[in-house]
Amino acid sequence: MTTPGTALTAPPAASLRRISGFTPTGRLHLGNLLGAMVPTVAGQDTPGTVVFLSDLHAFTVEHNPATTRATTIEQATLLLAAGVDPDRSLFYLQSQVPAHTELHYLLECATGVGEAQRMIQFKEKSAAQHQVRLSLLTYPVLMAADILLHQSAEVPVGDDQDQHVELARDVATRFNARYGATFVVPRAVHPPTAARVMDLADPSRKMSKSAPSGGGTLFLLDAPDVLRRKVFRAVTDSASDVRYDPAARPGVANLLEILSACVGRSPGDLADDFDSYGPLKAAVADAVIDRVRPIQRRYADLAADPAYVRAILRDGAERARIATADTIHRARTAIGLL
Ligand code: AMP
Repeated sequence: MTTPGTALTAPPAASLRRISGFTPTGRLHLGNLLGAMVPTVAGQDTPGTVVFLSDLHAFTVEHNPATTRATTIEQATLLLAAGVDPDRSLFYLQSQVPAHTELHYLLECATGVGEAQRMIQFKEKSAAQHQVRLSLLTYPVLMAADILLHQSAEVPVGDDQDQHVELARDVATRFNARYGATFVVPRAVHPPTAARVMDLADPSRKMSKSAPSGGGTLFLLDAPDVLRRKVFRAVTDSASDVRYDPAARPGVANLLEILSACVGRSPGDLADDFDSYGPLKAAVADAVIDRVRPIQRRYADLAADPAYVRAILRDGAERARIATADTIHRARTAIGLL
């Protein structure tokens, strides 16, 4: 295509920034909490955490504008309630920082159509739809822009996002090779347990904001009795003992992994505490309710003042615009803009 650029001679500065994105297509659930929010909040102890709401990604599928707005503010409030600290993290809405869409376009010019079409999530989501939006195909390139814009070395994600982080690596490597050193090449990192929380009603599927009934999804704002009911209805199997065997007994393994993430002991070790499913489910329900209770309390306080949350987001966007100005300038110059 093009010979390697000469505009940049110095490699991009190594970055300790860790970036996490949350898409406001539905209500946040326990999978989001254990797979993404907990490690993100823990990571704030080291400087450089970026937490943003990927609101532009919410338009890749059928959506209702008013619902998207309401979900966006709910998610932002819940992230703050769960411990995202705007003084230590860069916390903002993607749509309020135009550098995301600007870099998206530049990266599209370094991405093959075939690469985008190979994404498993695109194949799955497009197969389930009548009319597929072009943005659904190009969404992983916008995600690559989200990551590369911050020169993030590590991207903490559930393993469902590995392929998208791999695409970001490929595009960064190619862009650097063709146009000169511009981006840090990122890698995915996973929390040690509960990287993937499964749906309680169908443990072959991951817990998701958009599950059809929501019966197997533990939403963070579900009332305690609703959480308890969902846990007690969780699909297990007909065995009578409790053993940690993810391949043969995925429903029980999922419950043990959730408990493990809540109480900090290994799933195999926890299995020894129970000789039947009833007490296991009771322990899981208690642990989940205890885990979300303080988050729900802080959420109620913050939700009483939505103007405060909006002001935090506006301030974060302003700081993100400043923090990303150098990278967007480097990318523009490298690819050939004046
Ligand atoms: P999303 O729900 O797609 O906006 O994802 C937000 C973050 O939560 C991403 O880092 C996902 O990888 C993570 N995530 C979503 N669902 C799950 C799940 N069931 N288990 C673990 N992590 C998840």
